[in-house]
Amino acid sequence: MSEQKHGFATRAIHDGQAPDPQTGAVNVPLYLSSTYAQEEIGRHKGYEYSRVSNPTRDALETNLASLEGGASGHVFASGMAAIMAMITMFKSGDHVICGANVYGGTPRLFNQIVTRYGIEFDYVDTSDPENVRRAIRPTTKLVHIETPTNPLMTLTDIRAVADICHDKGVELAVDNTFMSPYFQRPIELGADIVMHSTTKYLNGHSDGLGGVLIGTKPEHKENFAFVQKCTGGILSPFECWMILRGVKTLAVRMKQHDESGRRVAEFLAGHKKVAKVFYPGLPSHPGHELAQKQMTGFGGMISFETGSLENANKLLTSVKVCTLGESLGGVETLISHPATMTHAAIGAEARAQLGITDGLVRISVGIEEVEDLLYDLEQALNSI
Ligand SMILES: *Cc1c(COP(=O)(O)O)cnc(C)c1O
Repeated sequence: MSEQKHGFATRAIHDGQAPDPQTGAVNVPLYLSSTYAQEEIGRHKGYEYSRVSNPTRDALETNLASLEGGASGHVFASGMAAIMAMITMFKSGDHVICGANVYGGTPRLFNQIVTRYGIEFDYVDTSDPENVRRAIRPTTKLVHIETPTNPLMTLTDIRAVADICHDKGVELAVDNTFMSPYFQRPIELGADIVMHSTTKYLNGHSDGLGGVLIGTKPEHKENFAFVQKCTGGILSPFECWMILRGVKTLAVRMKQHDESGRRVAEFLAGHKKVAKVFYPGLPSHPGHELAQKQMTGFGGMISFETGSLENANKLLTSVKVCTLGESLGGVETLISHPATMTHAAIGAEARAQLGITDGLVRISVGIEEVEDLLYDLEQALNSI
């Protein structure tokens, strides 16, 4: 399959997934094999041991690299394992700049584990790219951002930050989990590395964990493959097969997440019990214009303010179609409370600084009938 000629949905279904040459099976087989028979000393079919490589994993890595427009893909046991694999590129004394408002597990990993090895971190509000320029030091190696951020949906101009990074010889990594490559392709905007928790939209069915690093340079490919081989935090063939299956419907799923997301955001914005809605698709959102420039949709992630912990809890215990739970990006609507769930680990002070209040609720709009979601939220809001 030529990557240039085909559109996104075609690549999602075909890239890395040519019919099996032996049997004609249209799906990539699930290769549950730890090892591979060799013909003679030093002669084999390209596979020796599954920590190093596995045909099902290869298919997924090829597919995801194509969807992001990158040169290589490497999958890991979870999104956090992928971020950790990326960080192993650096050594003691190196400096990394991270967005101030990212997935809670990311600063936990950096501050509580990685700093033990002498790598230094600074957290800056990347919604103003000039903050990135000011934070860059001679030892800075990487800027790691999320856009839109979790959970406040703040946008960062990827191209502007990439230009600043490249000016200073620094690489830019973007955690693209919230948008998926269907709505945002950071590499086309100048990013050097794209990371995903495949647990979310890429797999899409809330039934498996995974993470991926998409690289653009030969040294990324070499580095990330070496980390897979040396540290072993690889994605199992079964999970790879699940994600290959999930990604085939990514385009149609994302279209529906976006369509329903817009409806739910408008509904919430017009509801008297909702003080504020954070969704880049709303014209009132400070990043609305940038969203239209660097994304091709707004997606299904929305946060909104209910006013208090008590109100949030009333809402969260009254929903019947929406499921109270962590995570996002599945076909089912998930609703959560960032202050006590995804962002509990960063502490009350950091939450206050970012504006993550006790009344804030986050919703990952699924692909159920949107009328059912609106009815469910209406009855739950009326309980406040
Ligand atoms: C979930 C998530 C992660 C972590 O991924 P896991 O698969 O849970 O390890 C990282 N970044 C973002 C934006 C996420 O939503």
